[in-house]
Amino acid sequence: ERVYGVSQWGGGYFRIGEKGNVEVTPVPEDTSISIDFKAVIDEIREEGVQFPVVVRFHDVLRSQVASLNTIFRTTITEAGYNGQYQGVYPVKVNQMREVVEEIVEAGAPFNYGLEAGSKAELLTVLAMNTNEDSLTILNGYKDDEFMRLALLGRKLGRKIVVVVEKYSELLLLVKIAKELNIDPIIGVRAKMTVKGRGKWESSGGERAKFGLTITEIIKTARYLEEQGMAHCLKLLHFHIGSQLTDIRAVKEAMTEGARIYADLHKMGFPLDYVDVGGGLGIDYDGSNSTNESSRNYSMQEYVADVVYGMKEMCDLEDVPHPTLVSESGRAITAHHSCVVTEIVGEIKSNSASIDTEVKDGEHFFVKNMRELAETLDQQDNMQEVYNDASQYKEQALDAFKLRVLTLEELAKIETLYWHIMSHLHAYYANEEYVPEELQELDYSLSSQYLCNFSVFQSAADTWAIDQLLPVVPLTRMNERPEVNCSLVDITCDSDGKIDQFTVGREITDVLPMHKLKKDDPYYVGLFLTGAYQDVMGDMHNLFGRLNEVHIYSYDDDPQDFYIEEVVKGSSVEDVLSIMQYNPKAMASDMKRMIDRQISNGTFNPREAVRWNDFYENCLSGYTYLKP
Ligand code: PLP
Repeated sequence: ERVYGVSQWGGGYFRIGEKGNVEVTPVPEDTSISIDFKAVIDEIREEGVQFPVVVRFHDVLRSQVASLNTIFRTTITEAGYNGQYQGVYPVKVNQMREVVEEIVEAGAPFNYGLEAGSKAELLTVLAMNTNEDSLTILNGYKDDEFMRLALLGRKLGRKIVVVVEKYSELLLLVKIAKELNIDPIIGVRAKMTVKGRGKWESSGGERAKFGLTITEIIKTARYLEEQGMAHCLKLLHFHIGSQLTDIRAVKEAMTEGARIYADLHKMGFPLDYVDVGGGLGIDYDGSNSTNESSRNYSMQEYVADVVYGMKEMCDLEDVPHPTLVSESGRAITAHHSCVVTEIVGEIKSNSASIDTEVKDGEHFFVKNMRELAETLDQQDNMQEVYNDASQYKEQALDAFKLRVLTLEELAKIETLYWHIMSHLHAYYANEEYVPEELQELDYSLSSQYLCNFSVFQSAADTWAIDQLLPVVPLTRMNERPEVNCSLVDITCDSDGKIDQFTVGREITDVLPMHKLKKDDPYYVGLFLTGAYQDVMGDMHNLFGRLNEVHIYSYDDDPQDFYIEEVVKGSSVEDVLSIMQYNPKAMASDMKRMIDRQISNGTFNPREAVRWNDFYENCLSGYTYLKP
């Protein structure tokens, strides 16, 4: 726990069990319900599902939906707020059908709705959000078809709100609504002057991509009035960025948003809803701070600031309390899924060594390095040892390029160099002061654990925006982790790595892990991948979507679980077809080429059949390694 900080980032959903395995507690209020991750892995293996695997804990998803809604309800009651809460889940955060279905089902008692930001998402939410009492909020840029689909939803009796992002959309919507004679529900998105804090702060401010300026909002209201449609203007929306790290941004946004709402009301436009967008952050690094991968508040505090912030302003301005809407996606989905992968190898810069015995006629560079290595115990200035060794190594490389040193001599120098570095590393492990260059030894002597997955498919944000995601071994947590390592994936891309972790309270470039044992697979989990990571990945190197298992706990046995569904990941054929190949034609071309080799004796007919079958099996197989 001190190393991996599971309870700090786990949101109450994960803990380290007595057997040293990670356990999932899908209902944080009732920790007697727990699922042993090792048992999940065993069952996945028994079912013959190949790793890497996305494991979805559907009970966690349900718990998050219930938490957000319940917290809003209790806070509203405590605050004496006269309006209600009617949240929506923005499907872009994870559009997987099973995820959306689960959220809709878990949200039904709260009339929890959906948000869409594109035409494809709109088609999805029209089919999925069938509850007439819940909201469907439509953000994003819109065209003629988009507007017609929204109005179709109105005809079906749905509470569909078209949020105007730019003024020309309003003119289009009014035109089509009149043509079809359907009253739309209209929202306006305000371009806020307050900016969020963190990686997504450009969603706010005057240069924000979306939203109307105050002048445009007033123009919108007046235009609707002219058109006899002022009654259609029902919602004010703002969103100042995802993953707000600092609660002050939430408070500032509430003040600004509530003021706009109140003044619109006083101008004769009594809106029913104020939609505060997303932004509720996740504590990925467990620091509960304003670090980029963290946030300095809880869900309770966020909700309290939204509810009390709105109440205070409305009371001051003497306007009614509107129904509050929020569009939290990250907070709903992040915890429920994690990527489980197996470590399939170790890469170490100093692992190989060759015999460094004295040889007649060897170059004096080798002799110098050997002398240094053999007298380490007599040296009292370790910084000097480091400087000398580094200089000898650099000179040796130059000499090799100039054909002065042989390949074998260079290898001897390299072996001796890493021997010296290991000694220095051990020496400084017990010292309080470590010179700056030597601090890098931690990293350069660390291992790289090779993980059977693709960063670009499963953890895109770690590559794209340095997002930190917790990485944790799923077993052996009762053993001391002795190997410092970073993780590398199996893509042919040197960016395919994870070298940012939280260890205790620090952000480091290596993570302590356990020594690999022969015949004992070592599984690690990449946690909090349910928001965005699950759906934003790409097929770099043709590594496709992962196999998925959906886990539910049993109502009558708090220690048990079942795999409700296995969703097969992409096969090689699938990814090739997306790239416009024709796998069937490829297989028959290969067959022709292999069969041609029978006549010249390279294969006998039986061998040719086997090679053909092998090629076809690989085509229909998984894109990841079979360890
Ligand atoms: N609503 C809008 C308009 C967004 O752009 C986003 C994401 O940036 C969200 C909601 C979801 O935000 P979050 O995942 O931070 O809850």
